[in-house]
Order: sequence, then C-alpha cells, then structure tokens
Amino acid sequence: MPESDSKANTGRSGPTLGCDDGYITSEDPRDFGWVKENVPCQTACPAGTDIPTYIWEILQGRPGDSYEINREANVLPGILGRICSRPCEGKCRHGWPGNGDPVSICHLKRAAADLKDRGHRLNESLYAPSGKKVAIIGSGPAGVAAAHDLSLMGHDVTVFEREERPGGMLAYGIPEFRLPREILHEEIHNALRLGVTLKTGVTVGNGKGEIPLASLRADFDAVLLATGCMKAIDLPLRDDPDGHAMHGLGQAKYGFDFLLEMHRGEAKTVGKRVAVVGAGFTALDCARVAYRLGAEEVTIHLRTTEEYIPVTREEILEAKRENVALLGLRTPVALKADKDGTIKAVEFAQNRLGGWRENGRRKAIPIAGSEFEVGCDTLLVAIGQRTVHDLLDEKIALDRWNNAEVGDDWMTSLEGVFAAGDYVKGASTVIEAVGQGRKAAQAMDTWLMGKPRRKQVVRIERVEEPLRQRAFDFIERHHMPTQAITTRVHDLGCEVETGYDPDLAREEAKRCYLCNLHYKIDIDNCIYCRACIDVAPKNCIKMVDGIKINPDGTYGDLSETAEWDHVGAIWIDNNECIRCGACYQVCPTKCISITRNRLVMQEV
Ligand SMILES: Cc1cc2nc3c(=O)[nH]c(=O)nc-3n(C[C@H](O)[C@H](O)[C@H](O)COP(=O)(O)OP(=O)(O)OC[C@H]3O[C@@H](n4cnc5c(N)ncnc54)[C@H](O)[C@@H]3O)c2cc1C
Ligand code: SF4
Ligand code: SF4
Ligand code: SF4
Repeated sequence: MPESDSKANTGRSGPTLGCDDGYITSEDPRDFGWVKENVPCQTACPAGTDIPTYIWEILQGRPGDSYEINREANVLPGILGRICSRPCEGKCRHGWPGNGDPVSICHLKRAAADLKDRGHRLNESLYAPSGKKVAIIGSGPAGVAAAHDLSLMGHDVTVFEREERPGGMLAYGIPEFRLPREILHEEIHNALRLGVTLKTGVTVGNGKGEIPLASLRADFDAVLLATGCMKAIDLPLRDDPDGHAMHGLGQAKYGFDFLLEMHRGEAKTVGKRVAVVGAGFTALDCARVAYRLGAEEVTIHLRTTEEYIPVTREEILEAKRENVALLGLRTPVALKADKDGTIKAVEFAQNRLGGWRENGRRKAIPIAGSEFEVGCDTLLVAIGQRTVHDLLDEKIALDRWNNAEVGDDWMTSLEGVFAAGDYVKGASTVIEAVGQGRKAAQAMDTWLMGKPRRKQVVRIERVEEPLRQRAFDFIERHHMPTQAITTRVHDLGCEVETGYDPDLAREEAKRCYLCNLHYKIDIDNCIYCRACIDVAPKNCIKMVDGIKINPDGTYGDLSETAEWDHVGAIWIDNNECIRCGACYQVCPTKCISITRNRLVMQEV
C-alpha cells in the first residue's frame, strides 16, 4: 500500500509540515531519493545546481535571486551559462519522449547573470577565521571554486598560478568569442574577493625559481592540486606510434598549444587550407579561430561522425555556419611535408563505425587499403590532453589513466595533499571541475576542523497553488540569438551568442515543469471519483493496489489495477507528472497537495 499522508490544518489535506514557517527540513533517505529521482536535471549536474528553483526565480522576474541560487552551487554562473557542456539538458524531463525539447537550462543560467541589476550585491555569509592555511595550485575552475568555498569557511587561502592571469582553460583555452574576458574577470574576482591571496606568474615545481611542493606542505595546513591536464596527447601514426612526427614540422601544431600561446599574446597565423584533427572542445575552437584568422577552407577530420562528438549541438551548428566542414570516419596515419619540412598533406585511413566504447561513444575501425590524402597548409591536432606530474617532488598514487587518485575524502596518497578537477578526472568539463572543487573544499574543511561543519538536507515547503499553467507545455524551445556571420569574421573578440532579453528569458522559463514540485494524494480523503484522472494530460494518475519502495528510498514499480475491488489508492506517478496542476484544480475534496522539495546546505 502507498504511504498515507496525515491531514493538514489548512483547507487542503496533505502533509502537515509541523512548523509555522511553512517548511520543514528532512534527512529521511526517502526524501533525498525523491529529489534524486524526480529532479533529473539537478541530479545530472555535477555541481548539483538547483535548476527548477533558479528557473522559477526568472519566471518571477527576479534574475538577481536566480543568480544567487546558481552561485550557491557554482560560483561561475555567467561563465557556465555560456560554455557549459550541459549534461542537465540531456536528462531534462521536457526532453523525454512525447514531451518535446529540453528546457534551455544553460541559456537561462546566462540570462540570470546578464539580466541581474548592474549593482547586484552578492549574498554570502562568512564563518569566523579558522586559523588554518590552505594552498591551492592552479586557478582554473576547480581551484577557483575550492578557493571560494574554503575562504567562506574561514580559512586563509593562497592560490598559486603559473600563468599571468587566473582562470586556467577559461582564460587560456576557450576563445573570447565564446567567453568574453570581462565576464571571466568579474566572476573570478567575485569568487576570490573574500580574502583569497592570488599569486600569478608563480610555478610550483622543481625547476629554477619555482616553489617546491614540499615547502608548501611545510607552510600550509593543507594543499590542493588543481593543475588540470596541461599536455596535448601525441598523435600516433602508422610508422610513428609515439607521435614524434609532429615536432619540428612547419605549420603543424597541437591545437592545445596553439590556443595557449595565442592567449598568452603570441601573434598567430594560419595558411589558406586548415586541417584540424580531433573531435572535442579544443578541435572546434581551433577550427573557429582559424576561420577568424583568415583561413579560406577549414575542415575538422573526425574518427567517427559528428553525432558522437562531445560538444554541444549549438557549437557544431555555429561552426558550420562559419563555413567549417566536419568530415567523419577517418584516422590520420601519416603526415606529408615538403622538402623544407612544412606540412603539405595528411594521409588518412577510412573508418567504419564499430561497437560502443565504455565512455558511451562509438569505436572507429580503419578499413584496410582505404588510405587517401588531404592537402593542407596548416595542421592543428587536438585529440585530447593529459595530466603531467612534473610539479611533484614525491610520487603520488595515479590511476590507470595516469590521473591523480583520490579517496572519498579527496586526499591523494600524500597526507594533507588533496586534488580536484581535470588533474583527477582527466580532460573533462568546467562544471565537473567546479563540482569537484566544491566537494574537495568540503572534504578539506572536515579534515582541517576534525568534523563536518555543513550537511545537506531536504527542505520541504508547502505550496498553495500550482505554479504553472497547462498552456506553458506547448511553448517551443527558444533558440539563442547570435551575431550575424559578417560581424563575426576576422574578429576573435566578438561574442557569437548575444543572450536572451527579459521577455525571451521568461518565455523559456515558463517551459520548465518545476520538477521539484511534489504532487501527492491524501488517500484518507480521496473519494475515488476519478475527476483527476479525467483531466490528466498523461497517464500520470493511476489506480494502484501497491507501490514498491526501493532500498534507497525511491519509489519502485507501481502495481496498477483496473479492478475497483483491488484499488488501494489513486496514485500520482511523479515520473509521468508534468506538474500541470489540472488534478489539483479539479479535485472536489481538495486532497491533492503540493510541496516544493529542495536540497539545501545547513550548518551542523
Ligand atoms: C580549448 C579548450 C576549450 C574548452 N571548452 C570547454 C567548454 O566549452 N565547456 C566545458 O565545459 N569545458 C571546456 N573545456 C574543458 C575545461 O576547460 C576543463 O575541463 C577545465 O578548465 C578543467 O578545470 P581545472 O581547474 O581542473 O584545470 P585547468 O582549467 O586546466 O586549470 C589548471 C591551472 O593550473 C595551472 N597550473 C598547472 N600546473 C601548475 C604549476 N605547476 N604551478 C602553478 N600553476 C599550475 C595552469 O596554468 C592552469 O591555470 C575546454 C578545454 C580547452 C583546452
Ligand atoms: S523541466 Fe525543468 S525542472 Fe524538470 S528536468 Fe527540465 S529543467 Fe529540470
Ligand atoms: S499535475 Fe496532476 S494532472 Fe498534471 S501532470 Fe501532474 S499528476 Fe497529471
Ligand atoms: S479528484 Fe481527488 S478525490 Fe477524486 S480521485 Fe482524484 S484525488 Fe481522489
């Protein structure tokens, strides 16, 4: 039998929240399980962003509050609203079969950042000084997120960064036409403003003028390694499996180094025909930079096909609009140079698609005897990045991909030395790095203070009316407005995506189902009239004789029945529910209740 809600003291029956504030907090695993299962976007976000709540604030015309909710989970909303890899959108309930397209979660995040007041005040409360000192190596998103949280928790934080500017790949990898530098500057400044000391142009390592890790371990109570993946993966070729051929060839370069050097201020040029080998963010960025540097023909050569490459669909679309061609099913096997050692052509083997790899992508299988040549004047190779460990003066345990191994407490095999971001995960994404930076910071705080000082709870708040209208379900996804192609050309600094205006942002926000709304029927008051079932837009309200509860607290299979003498309850299947409110409006006994269930942090 399904659980039965106790009666409330309002006109409607439903959960009695047992307090005057209109909400309770819960640590019941079933409540955590409900949020995990029912708010799929938040569950998919590596930083656990409370997406329905920030979208709700936009709908209410409060972009500043929306920005603050974003910032609770990730300190870089204006940045991530532009360049996030968007794992949440792939899981959005609005994109499930029969429901249409996912909500533009990421563009709405950006809208909150863009549309907040110019004088918006950040809302943060600080712990008292802890007397502990923390060193963070690397100022990429992992290092910045950790520095922010640790400084908020009262620790004295110093960030060491070898480049002249902070931001890691946000500053030295991602080009300005995707991420304007004033946005980067503003959000990094805000993340570090609560007393973090930033030392740029300082390398931690064993070379001349560098700071040895041992001295940081002696001077600080804890150290965080957030040094990313700083080396391009070598291109293996038929007669050169270790990839030496690229070094020393004119006009052939690893895309990662090309972008790094460009962002350090080196003037870059490319030939008329540019070939890019690779399939990720770096490959796409190299191609789009080459277009802006004046290349006449830019082609990205892929091992598989474009539907399997790990970048957003919008990015592929924009690259194509900039005349970048994507050609699939080919692997480079040899490089051809002229007598001066300048690249002239790439020899490829034709591939066919094979089975699936562990990471969810397809295998590419070269076809024997299928080799062909493609001429080019510049070659940029971007087949991935890897970690380097030359900053260490003592070995640490590495995993099978050569990344730093950490325990559940985010500590490496060296006592007091923690790690986060790409240095742990391998080349990944900004939101992964932010999520890891935050988790590592929480674990470091627990280790430094000898006990956890914050914990997550579920905040359950009574909602007195459906917050949506059925009509919202028919609004189509709004596309991001972009700059005209003629404005973008030859301009590395012209931001391509121009952002939603307030009206567009509200219209898109209406599309969100607000999946954190929990609709529930109080079976003690239900008279089995079926009025709710008659108005339901989907098969979301079911007659059941029982429901399984999984060990983690989530609901398992419903045991549906059509026979009245077996009906134990009329049950709302929150998985099917699109929070339209129709049942709530029609129920004659007012036995349907709504709560908003959110994960929040609380002091222990
Ligand atoms: C060209 C490019 C485009 C990308 N585009 C996207 C995108 O659109 N969306 C997305 O989600 N992800 C993207 N990524 C991936 C994303 O940028 C990374 O996953 C993310 O930046 C990793 O964060 P991190 O903090 O772990 O490391 P990083 O951002 O790499 O930062 C590491 C920092 O450590 C510093 N450092 C290293 N060694 C030392 C040392 N010994 N002493 C002092 N400092 C040191 C480095 O200088 C660097 O600043 C892109 C990556 C690249 C290269
Ligand atoms: S509809 Fe809204 S709350 Fe539901 S998964 Fe999509 S973005 Fe998240
Ligand atoms: S709110 Fe009620 S009628 Fe609407 S989808 Fe959910 S269960 Fe069905
Ligand atoms: S409308 Fe209300 S009383 Fe009627 S079956 Fe549905 S929940 Fe029960």
